[in-house]
Amino acid sequence: MTPATALQTLREAGISVSLDGADLIVKAPAPPSAEIVTLIRQNKPALVELLLRPSPPPPSEADITRWLDDHHTLTAPNRCAHCRQVETPAAMVVPFGGRSAGHVWLHPECWSAWMANRRAEAIATLMNERIAP
Ligand SMILES: [Zn+2]
Repeated sequence: MTPATALQTLREAGISVSLDGADLIVKAPAPPSAEIVTLIRQNKPALVELLLRPSPPPPSEADITRWLDDHHTLTAPNRCAHCRQVETPAAMVVPFGGRSAGHVWLHPECWSAWMANRRAEAIATLMNERIAP
């Protein structure tokens, strides 16, 4: 497990991890499980080192666009890729995307939320790749 993966695991468990100088500060909403305590103990020096590193700059728009193009999702017509609802006469799904890459089918009103989720996924993935050793 990389320090970045350990940090992500802790944060997904609702545990706040920060530094006070070079001391690791761990705050949990409830007593952590034995596995979490072991994870913290085994990764403490690496977590401190990771948190002491300057944050990498956020990915550029070009990086985000390239990631979105490289991780294009195609969906079947008749079902919205965002809300997963089947098309009805009152709520049509329409194709988005280029002819060469294929289409993602969405309700027009779902497009902005779908795209926001895709951008967030791209940024999170690109940032995680940058902090992973
Ligand atoms: Zn929808």
